[in-house]
Amino acid sequence: MHLDDSFPPDAPWRFLMALNDSYMFIPNGMTELMRVPAPPPLNYWLRPKDEALDQKARKAYVAHLRSLADAWINTGRHGSVESPLDRKLSRSLRQTLRAWAAVNRPDITFDDSGETVLLMPVTKIDYRSPIAAAENAAVLLFGVFLDSPFRSRLFKCLRCEAYYYSERQPRGPIKHGTYCPLHRHAASADRSNERKRLPEREQKLDLAAQCWNRWPKRITDEGQQAEWVAAEVNRGLGLDCAEIKRNWVTRHRATIQERAERRYPTAR
Ligand SMILES: [Zn+2]
Repeated sequence: MHLDDSFPPDAPWRFLMALNDSYMFIPNGMTELMRVPAPPPLNYWLRPKDEALDQKARKAYVAHLRSLADAWINTGRHGSVESPLDRKLSRSLRQTLRAWAAVNRPDITFDDSGETVLLMPVTKIDYRSPIAAAENAAVLLFGVFLDSPFRSRLFKCLRCEAYYYSERQPRGPIKHGTYCPLHRHAASADRSNERKRLPEREQKLDLAAQCWNRWPKRITDEGQQAEWVAAEVNRGLGLDCAEIKRNWVTRHRATIQERAERRYPTAR
C-alpha cells in the first residue's frame, strides 16, 4: 500500500524541518487569511487576519510535532542505550493516532497497476479553533512520517536537541548516545579524553591559544576577534563544559596571547 500523490515523498523532510522550527516548513493558513494589495504582477498576497493568533497556531503546530516525535523516540530509549528498531507506539500515541483516524477517515482506492492506495483526507480547517487544527495537521504529518523508512532514522541530539536523520538505517542499539553531526565529534572526543582530561579552564585556554593566530585576516576588530575565538573554543569543547562568550576571551586575553606565542607560534 502507498500514499496518494498529495503526500509527496519529501514529507519526512518537511517533518524534520518543521520539528527544527524552520519557518518555511510550517504550513500557512492555519488561521484565516486576508488579501493585501501588492504590486503587479501579483496584485495581492495573503496575510493572516490575526497575526498573533497565527503565531500561536504555528507554535502549537511545532510543539505538537515535537511531543509526538519525542514520545516516539522515547519508546526506544532504555537508560543510555537507544534502540531505534524497538520503537513502537506508546499508549498515548496510539490513542492520538486512532482518534485522528476515526475523525478524519483515510480512504482506500486502487491505482492503474492494481496497487492499493491510501488516500489521506484533506482536513478542513475549522477557523474557530485554529490551535486544534494545527495539532491535527501535526498528527497527519506524523502519521505520514511513520509510514516512511525514516521512522527508525529520526534522532534528537542529546546536546543541542536538534532533530536529525541518521545517514543509514541503524542495525542495532546505539550505546554512546545520539548526537547531531555538529556535536558527534565533540561527543566521541569526550569519551576518549575522559581520563586524561585537563581541567575545564585549562582546556578552554589551550583551545583559545591554538586558534589565536589563526583568525581570518579580514577580522581586524578586537571585539570580533574575541567573538570568533569564542566560537572556535566552543566547537572544540567537551560536552560537559559550559560554553564561553566573547567577554571570557577578552578577560583572558593576556594569558591566551602569551600561551599562543609560547606553544603555538606561527611561522612568520
Ligand atoms: Zn547537536
